[in-house]
Order: sequence, then structure tokens, then C-alpha cells
Amino acid sequence: MPAARADARGPGKVRRAAPDRRLVQGVIVDLLVHALCLSRPAVPGRPPVLGWPAPSSPPATLPALLAGVLLSGGLAPTPSATKYLHKNMVLTSMLEEMMGSGPRILIAGGGCGGMHTALRLERLLRPGEATVMVADPWSYMTYQPLLAEAAAGNLEPRHVVVPLRGVLRRTQVIKAAVSSLDHAHRVARLTTGDGEDTLAGYDMLVLAPGSISRVLPVPGLAETGIGFSTIGEAIHLRNHVLGRLDAAAAASSAQARRAALTFVFAGGGYAGVEALAELQDMAFDACARYPELSRREMRWILVEAADRILPEVSPAMADYTAALLRRRHIEVRPRTRLVSAEGGRVQLDDGEEFPAGTLVWTAGVAPSPLARQAGLPTDATGRVIVDEFLAVQGADGAWALGDCAAVPDLAAGGGAVCAPTAQHAWRQARLLADNITAVLRGGTPRPYRHASAGSVASLGLYRGVAEVYGLRMRGFPAWLTHRTYHLLKLPTVNRRLRVVSDWMLALLFPREVVSLDVLEHPRRDFQAALRVIATGPSRVAPFPGQEEKEAEHHAYRQ
Ligand SMILES: Cc1cc2nc3c(=O)[nH]c(=O)nc-3n(C[C@H](O)[C@H](O)[C@H](O)COP(=O)(O)OP(=O)(O)OC[C@H]3O[C@@H](n4cnc5c(N)ncnc54)[C@H](O)[C@@H]3O)c2cc1C
Repeated sequence: MPAARADARGPGKVRRAAPDRRLVQGVIVDLLVHALCLSRPAVPGRPPVLGWPAPSSPPATLPALLAGVLLSGGLAPTPSATKYLHKNMVLTSMLEEMMGSGPRILIAGGGCGGMHTALRLERLLRPGEATVMVADPWSYMTYQPLLAEAAAGNLEPRHVVVPLRGVLRRTQVIKAAVSSLDHAHRVARLTTGDGEDTLAGYDMLVLAPGSISRVLPVPGLAETGIGFSTIGEAIHLRNHVLGRLDAAAAASSAQARRAALTFVFAGGGYAGVEALAELQDMAFDACARYPELSRREMRWILVEAADRILPEVSPAMADYTAALLRRRHIEVRPRTRLVSAEGGRVQLDDGEEFPAGTLVWTAGVAPSPLARQAGLPTDATGRVIVDEFLAVQGADGAWALGDCAAVPDLAAGGGAVCAPTAQHAWRQARLLADNITAVLRGGTPRPYRHASAGSVASLGLYRGVAEVYGLRMRGFPAWLTHRTYHLLKLPTVNRRLRVVSDWMLALLFPREVVSLDVLEHPRRDFQAALRVIATGPSRVAPFPGQEEKEAEHHAYRQ
């Protein structure tokens, strides 16, 4: 706020500016709100509307009042700071607490579509206009397009997930899965990780549970295969691949060594190709630290049932990618299916059979089963049928978006539906929040229309392939486009800075190639210590699972 300004009555004359009216109003409103809120007992049995705990007793003391005023920005020095604080923090949630919470909007799934819907609703809705709840079994959104880079160790895994409570200030985040829905009665069953069930009523439903791996009944797949769509899988794969190098280096037989160094990926879409290319790149780098191993010994195989990989890009770009992978000694095998993976032996439909220490299943996705379970209308693939406004057909008050929804692709026409991509999920989320707000205010929703911008994929450090608005790129320019595009799409400046700093550090220092597989058995050493006390040091620190195997063996012999 300027200290003085020109007097309207004549040039050259100045007078002290009157205090900004909005600031004065802000302070008065703050004082009133805080006096009311702090002296008001909590509504018994009712949780705070937006995560701001209502006081359980009336602490209307002077220090509490002053702290509240300071916190809410009432004494902030500029109107813009006051406005910012009011908009984003305490005052808004307290106003909502006082004014009632309006209709309840339940968002099932806090991933790309769900989180962005909630974010935009927070921006659009006035205090008290609606209560927004997001239920997700995980308290973060995973930015899947950067998973391959996290698996390869170019990025710290925590930097490719966005904590929901960190970005959603006015939304009630519930860490629980929506295990069933009764939309006729507007009730959802929420199940926590501890197995506890609660029922949550809602007025409007947004279905955004995404997709699951599309699996086939391949013998042995359940025992040996691993998917690639979660941060846990990315971390596991990194540890596993590095662990296989350790196992190969220590193997006592050529057969065990060959098995440990064989890596099979089933499914040649962008998720599979990126994961394979990045992990192979990492394994090649790591190999330099193992004098016992040579890169040539490793076998990396990509099997794809269709006649080409990367259906998301043009055939020319797919051919380029396949040629590039082959130059890196990756066996790209189109028109090939995985028949069996029993006992760690991979069998392909061309008759080849070999032991493999790693099998990654990246053969596409299927929509979450939640829509079908809820009895909402679904298409043949299980995606919930929505109209162009993202409203579920025949289910008043229900909306859906992202991978779980069959959204008409108006840009493509001809009855096509949008592909399951983050590109669509993100844009649909913004439109959906606009449409919900319009409907709540008696307005008219708008249809979803977006012509795909294309695809970008990273194929290891400094290599990529991209097709953006018809422009084809290869190698370094494509890789740079991939990084720039995803950096811009990654939510929050905080995440972007962290990712950039990871990339910068990776330019300066060699990759960290250590397997932290101990993370998967965090209690092992402690339990071993307890056993030493109980039974004496019979053996020294066996590997996870080894003791159980030995116990089984003894039981069998006896
Ligand atoms: C490895 C990989 C790479 C990819 N790369 C790209 C790319 O480069 N470009 C691109 O455009 N797209 C890419 N995609 C696809 C893109 O990530 C998805 O299309 C997008 O995330 C879909 O958004 P969504 O909100 O529908 O689902 P998601 O983002 O998957 O979110 C679904 C959320 O719902 C939660 N959930 C599941 N079940 C329940 C339940 N019962 N109750 C409550 N919550 C539930 C999940 O925990 C998750 O948080 C990639 C996907 C993968 C796996």
C-alpha cells in the first residue's frame, strides 16, 4: 500500500493516504469471525468441515484471539497479502465452518483426474457453497509419466508423487478406498488400510479411480510378474534389477547367472517401452561397477502381441524406436505372446523357453472395477459411460473422468472415446470442476473437446521419441521435449523445483546404483537379533525368507 498518493484536488499537493478500506474491513471481519469461532463450541459428533479442528471448549482468551487474527492475515501489511491469506488459509475454512457446508461432493480417487478436479473446485467454489471430499487408499497422487525415471534413479521417488494434504487446503482428504457405492441412496463405503469400514453420504459423486493392470490368465504370472503403475512398483523394480546384478555376480552356476541377467517385459506401449529403456540404461551404468559382469551377458527382451510397439505414435516413429532399442541390444519381439512364466521359466508362443529373473507386465490397463460394482452403466471394456459433459448417463448426480470413463472424443469424432492418458485426465478434471460449479449455480455445463497433442517418451538418458502436434522428434530433442513437457505438467512449483534439482544433480554426479531391497524387509535384522537372544547364534543373518525355507526343509526331513 503506498504511503501517500496524489490528491485529486490539484497537482503537486499530497496528503496521507486513507487506510485501504478493504484492509480495514478485513480486520473487522477477522475480529468478528475469530471472536465467534473461538467462542463457539464444536458441534458434537461433527468432524471439522475442512480439516480445521473446531475448538472443543470456548477459549475466547485475548492471546488466542490475537493469534487467530495474526494467523488469518488480519494484520497483514498489504491488502494483497490479506486477500491471499484469506483466500487460501484460515478464514475461508472458518467461514465454511460457520456458514454450513453446502452439498457434499465425493471424489473417489485422488489421482491425476481426482486431484485436479478437487484443486479447481477449491478455486471456483465460494465458502460454504459445497464440501469437497477426496477418498483414496493413498494420500498422494502419482505422476505416472515420470515413474520410469524414478525407477531408473534419475528422480527421487518422493518427488514424483504429490501429497494430497499438501496441495488440497479446503478439501477433506480421506485415506481410504471406496470399496462399494450405493448411488441410488448416495452412500459410499470407505475402507481404510486397517480394514475399518465407514459409510459416507454424498450429494454428488465424481468417479476417478483410474485403471488397473490388464492381466491375462498366464500360468505363473501371479507368482513372478510385477506391474508398473505405482510408485511402490517403481521402487521395487529398481531394487530388484540392481539386486539381480548382485545375484549374478555372486552366482555359483552359469545357469543361475544367466537367469539373474535375463529381464523380460511383456507389453510394448509407452509405459513398457519407457520402463524397459530406462531400467536397461541404469543396469548398463551399474554394470561398470561390477568387474565380474559384462554388459553383453545381460538379456533384455520386449515381447508385444501386436505387430508393432508404441501404438500411440506413427508407424515410422515406432520403427525408429524399435531400431534404437535393438541397437542397444534389446530384443524387440513383436507378434509374440508370453505363454507361461511358471517356476521362473518364461515360455513364448514361438516355442522359445528360458529362465528369467525378472518379468514385468506392462500389457495395458483395464478400468477400475468400481463403476461396474456400483451398477453404473459401463461399456464392453468396463469404462463407465459418460456424455460429453462428463455426466454418467442415467445416474443423476454422478460424474466420471480419466482412465475409468468412456468419454466421447469429440475432436476425433466417429464414436471414438478418449484414450486413457494423463493428458485427457488433467483436462477433463478442469472442465468437470467448471461443470459441477455451473450446475450448482443453475448454469449450463460445457462439453469436453480436446485434440490429443501427441506423445513423448524417454528412452534412457538423452534419448527419446516424440510426436507433438504432428511434429516428429528423435534422440536428444525428443528427450528434452519429454522432460520440459512433464516438468510443466507436474503439479506445484515445489515438485518442479525438486525434480529439476534431481536432474541437475544427475548431470553432475554418476547415478546411485545401490539396491535398497532391505526396505522390503524392514524388520529382518531386528527379528534376527531377537532370535539370537532366544536361541543363541546358530547362524549369522540369513537372507529374508531363508529361515522359513530352512524350517520347512527340517520339518520335511523329520
Ligand atoms: C508408467 C506409466 C506411464 C504413463 N505415461 C504417460 C504419459 O507419458 N502421458 C500421458 O498422457 N499418460 C501417461 N500415462 C497414463 C496416465 O498416467 C493416466 O492415464 C492418468 O494417470 C489417469 O488419471 P486417472 O485420474 O484416471 O487415474 P490415476 O491417476 O491412476 O488415479 C486413480 C486414483 O484412484 C485411486 N483409487 C483406485 N481405486 C480406488 C478406490 N476404489 N477408491 C478410491 N480411490 C481409488 C488410486 O489410488 C489413484 O490414486 C502413463 C501411465 C503409466 C502407468
